[in-house]
Amino acid sequence: MDLRIGQGYDVHQLREGLPMWLGGVRIESNIGFVAHSDGDVAIHALCDALLGALALGDIGHLFPDTSDEWKGISSSILLEKVMARITGLGWKVVNADITIALQRPKIASYVGAMREHLAAVMGVDSSRVSVKATTTERLGFVGRGEGCEVWAVVMLCKD
Ligand code: MG
Repeated sequence: MDLRIGQGYDVHQLREGLPMWLGGVRIESNIGFVAHSDGDVAIHALCDALLGALALGDIGHLFPDTSDEWKGISSSILLEKVMARITGLGWKVVNADITIALQRPKIASYVGAMREHLAAVMGVDSSRVSVKATTTERLGFVGRGEGCEVWAVVMLCKD
């Protein structure tokens, strides 16, 4: 069996009055992400991890923010498109581990729904998808509530 590992990282700025989507789940919040798409920074990091595992570039390259085609698009659709490329090459997801650094709002109660959603899109059981939420103890741009930072790691396998 052939194995590949990939990592992804993304940041989005927060602003009042915008919707907040994280891990494909709508978060109840009066602040949301500044973005060309729906700003789902967790899915963006996950997509980059999946693409990185197979050296297929990154989502900025695949879905340029200069293109109207991707304006306001649900990031879950981007993940579906990335997964189609991965599975089209004969690869499957072994597991994914995502860490979200966000000062507020508290997102712990949404983690289960994020795992279920991401697992469904990737075609795996939710036991293979980890989502962890942390603050940065009020330090840095995340701690000041200016943005959200996400890291994702995935493993892929091919029989
Ligand atoms: Mg992004």
